[in-house]
Amino acid sequence: MKQTIHNFVIKRTARMRMCVLLLLSTLAICMLAGVGGTSDAGTSPAEAQGDWSKALSGLIVALDPGHGGYDGGARAKDSGIWEKDLTLQITLAVEKVLISRGATVVVTRREDVCLAEGDTTTKARKRKDLQRRVDIALEANADVFLSIHLNEYRSRSESGPHVFYQQGGDDGRLLAGVLQEAMISELRPIKERVAMAGNYYVLRSKIPSALVECGFLSNAAEEKLLLTPAYHEKIGISIANGLTEYRKLIAGIGGELGEAGELSQTP
Ligand SMILES: [Zn+2]
Repeated sequence: MKQTIHNFVIKRTARMRMCVLLLLSTLAICMLAGVGGTSDAGTSPAEAQGDWSKALSGLIVALDPGHGGYDGGARAKDSGIWEKDLTLQITLAVEKVLISRGATVVVTRREDVCLAEGDTTTKARKRKDLQRRVDIALEANADVFLSIHLNEYRSRSESGPHVFYQQGGDDGRLLAGVLQEAMISELRPIKERVAMAGNYYVLRSKIPSALVECGFLSNAAEEKLLLTPAYHEKIGISIANGLTEYRKLIAGIGGELGEAGELSQTP
């Protein structure tokens, strides 16, 4: 009996040694292969993961799903889905990714509603609705404000995400520039657009703001993409990446400041 136990212990110890050796060699291979991509060189996957999850910690982001209630926004040509419904779905997916990177997120609406009371469809009510969205961001002390929208155009060949900023706002321009670049690099659109100045009520507050047109509902192929949760998550990842870059630029970290000129666009 004793001998059997002894043999068992020896076998078990040998097995454990094999396991440790296997684990160590796997780790060594991973380190040599540079798991985690070139930007994580020198850090273990665990460290990279740790940094990643905190990349946006301390940043307060206001997300505004465009339209709502009586104001449906644009309507998809093939599926018939309203912009207001899709902006909400996308915003909630973006919120999830931003939270996973450590950001604090405030969302201006979580339901299909107009944020101004009443039952009219007047310009005055729309203006109140827009002001309420800005006020929510101001009350939350948001560092950035992003209004999520979807584009449409009479020519169905137009496509690609497009980010806008308020003319004259330097931070908004920088923000829109990095978001545009991040969306191009993550979503790989056929048409690569450049961030543009616009004149939008929600972008005029003191908060650095951008209006993100995620794609064209009038383009058949892009509409299909825009309807999938996987693409919503990708939009979230691109926005998280853009905000990480924006934060670095604002903080003026090292050589990366030099990229600011390239990243921000000339209207
Ligand atoms: Zn819109």
